[in-house]
Amino acid sequence: MTKRQPEQASTDLQNNATCMDDFDPNSLPIDVAKARILESIEPLKSYVKIAIRGCLNRVLAKDIVSPINVPAYTNSAMDGYAIKGKDIPSTGETELSIVATIMAGQPTTKSISTGQCARIMTGGKMPKGADTVIMQEHVTRNNDTIRINNSHNTGQNVRQAGEDLAVNDLVLNAGHELNSADIGLLASIGIPETTVYRKLRIAFFSTGDELRSIGEPLNEGQIYDSNRYTIHSMLTRLGVDIIDMGVIPDDKNQIREAFALAASQADALITSGGVSVGEADYVKEILEEIGHVDFWKIAMKPGRPLAFGNIDNCLFFGLPGNPVSVMVTFYQFVLPALKKLSGQSTYEPTIISITCQSSLKKSPGRVELQRGILDYNNDGRLVVFSTGEQGSGILCSMSKANCFIILPMECKSVEPGDVVSVQPFAGLI
Ligand code: AMP
Ligand code: MG
Repeated sequence: MTKRQPEQASTDLQNNATCMDDFDPNSLPIDVAKARILESIEPLKSYVKIAIRGCLNRVLAKDIVSPINVPAYTNSAMDGYAIKGKDIPSTGETELSIVATIMAGQPTTKSISTGQCARIMTGGKMPKGADTVIMQEHVTRNNDTIRINNSHNTGQNVRQAGEDLAVNDLVLNAGHELNSADIGLLASIGIPETTVYRKLRIAFFSTGDELRSIGEPLNEGQIYDSNRYTIHSMLTRLGVDIIDMGVIPDDKNQIREAFALAASQADALITSGGVSVGEADYVKEILEEIGHVDFWKIAMKPGRPLAFGNIDNCLFFGLPGNPVSVMVTFYQFVLPALKKLSGQSTYEPTIISITCQSSLKKSPGRVELQRGILDYNNDGRLVVFSTGEQGSGILCSMSKANCFIILPMECKSVEPGDVVSVQPFAGLI
């Protein structure tokens, strides 16, 4: 990782800095910060081979190429009658005699000749000579014959061999996170186990003399440590191995020791609190001493102070202490970074443009990630609403939300009816 200086932000905004409390010329724009983080990360080079049942949400380490055709043989897509397409009459009706019955898994060796057909069930192998299936609801049956009319097309209701996948087709790319459909797809081509990236090991702790763990009594001036619980939950959703290091007081020696311990065990360390410019904010100082800090101020709200760096091979994310800031910075920076580290080839969030139903206040100078609720309005249209009060300590705003409303740096306010950019949480909060 290379050391960089914070970049200057847009010059227009710099000129107006006196009237913008929220503007800090030494802050990095979100996109620049994210790009730098991603640029500095190489995916793990460690893989494991496991049975496909255990592969849900794991990241493929190698391309999957199909060893077979799927379907393996041409078969019927309907319960009906397999016929020759050229026996479909051009006008009126025609009669065909039934010469075989074909169930799924019980093919016939009989060939179908002109004037003949085979009773066939869904998934049954098409007999030689037949290329078309007429649904049973569209025939008139009379003992061993059927009558069909002219309303059919040659080739209908037949699934061709290899139509889903052909031998040697690229089925899934390395870097793909496997979902339930993918697991079924692997089974459909007879693959019992596959090579995936090993799970990430992520350590985290909270810093702050005021923090108490749940179960302990709160004395004056103390608060419960909630960040460790949100971080634990977000990491659980991400499917990583978790190393919870508890609460570390605002003490340089203890922070130093915790850093060293985490670096010896984890692929990344996430801390919350102690990263700002207060007198007990030691995180950045210690990271500079035993590791490397890449930058630490971002032009966003909430979440301005953020330390990114490394201690040896362990990535470091020093998140701010405020509970909402923790979740916002985790979502914007830690999540894509960990996805890349875990081998995933796509880590960009989905952003949609949608009408906002609430009025939103914002001061220019920083990008704001306000908390929103994607829901239907009275006209049945999907719109976004504000969760209300947006302070960075108001965790209720995250609890109610299902998306971020992204308000760009220069935006001053949003009126009902304005279109805004929205980033849905995508199940990770
Ligand atoms: P700091 O960044 O350490 O100055 O913390 C900023 C604010 O977040 C302070 O009000 C802290 O008390 C609060 N805070 C820090 N860590 C936590 C935590 N783990 N859980 C809840 N609140 C926290
Ligand atoms: Mg603190």
